[in-house]
Amino acid sequence: MINLYEMTLDELTAQIVAWGEKPFRATQIWQWMYDQRVADFNAMTNLPASLRQRLTGTATLGNLQIVVEQSSADGTRKRLYRLPDGQTIESVLMPYDDDRRTACISTQAGCAMGCVFCATGQMGFVRHLSAAEIFEQAVRFAVELEAAGERLSNVVLMGMGEPFHNYDESLKAIRRLMSDLGIGARHITVSTVGIVPRIYQFADEGLQVRLAISLHAAEDEGRGALLPVNKRWNLDALLEACHYYVQKTGRRVTFEWALIDGETDTESDAHALGKLLRGLSCHVNAIPLNPTAGYGGQPSDPQVVARFIEILAGYGVPMTVRVRRGIDIAAGCGQLQSDVIRLADIPQENPR
Ligand code: SAH
Ligand code: SF4
Repeated sequence: MINLYEMTLDELTAQIVAWGEKPFRATQIWQWMYDQRVADFNAMTNLPASLRQRLTGTATLGNLQIVVEQSSADGTRKRLYRLPDGQTIESVLMPYDDDRRTACISTQAGCAMGCVFCATGQMGFVRHLSAAEIFEQAVRFAVELEAAGERLSNVVLMGMGEPFHNYDESLKAIRRLMSDLGIGARHITVSTVGIVPRIYQFADEGLQVRLAISLHAAEDEGRGALLPVNKRWNLDALLEACHYYVQKTGRRVTFEWALIDGETDTESDAHALGKLLRGLSCHVNAIPLNPTAGYGGQPSDPQVVARFIEILAGYGVPMTVRVRRGIDIAAGCGQLQSDVIRLADIPQENPR
């Protein structure tokens, strides 16, 4: 079976011509896939019946298989997909009141970075996803939203995995989100734990895509304890790369900060963070810690958070607290993990 979501328009055209059809048929199929966003060849009503039949017999629209889907009380949807080789990944769709529809997609099955409070990190690394597997997660939501009269508006590469550890495929997927699915660069965000050389590379891509950096601690010792990657690239190296990014792109960088009671929310943490980011064009996105099986920390008290924000403001660093989404179905930041994979089945890999 040919997966049409894996093909460029040129590749699709070559295939259609090889079947003895006129090239414009490929453009028609393309429009059904990405403009009209239908999920079924029979809905492609301007194609000859013979071509529709041929497509049904030889091609598929995607090859991610939904194993289970859960809906949260707040409207967030999380689903588990099975990939053709049996591996599993999760994707999340978050509807917001202002009509935004944001897909949170995965770039790897598992993750090699081992951040202690993250469920994906706790499960270990399984494999990289291909660009088509990353891209298809967004297309699938786009198709379903379209059928409901809604439109996918935003995509964040913040699901399972570290996008910059799978840089080329993630970037290919990002380019296709823009060119094929028509998502504006400013409506796409890629989040990295801090793979420093790839931050430079990303700054040089000339894209308007948003960059988020998972910071979570403002001193090397504390950050190294939460995020092992800090032992490879420390805060000096990370901040230098962030300054380069801001200078090169003229864009603001977002820092993610998990608020963990007594760990990352003290007044001294706030001062250290303020000093670290003072003068840099940035914004801090605070995420109250979401519970995961492998980490015992607790989310911060709202009063403590308010004080933290106030201290940061004194350094001219803006911080907002992200609304928690989908916690009742473990679809929040850092909670994605394929339950069907047993830890023992995962190859032990440590790239650090
Ligand atoms: N690998 C990338 C993107 C996916 S994680 C990265 O780490 O940036 C998305 C965000 O959720 C990251 O900022 C991550 O640090 C944060 N996160 C992980 N576990 C969390 C948890 N238990 N509670 C709150 N945020 C968490
Ligand atoms: Fe990987 Fe990001 Fe989770 Fe760290 S927080 S383990 S980098 S997915």
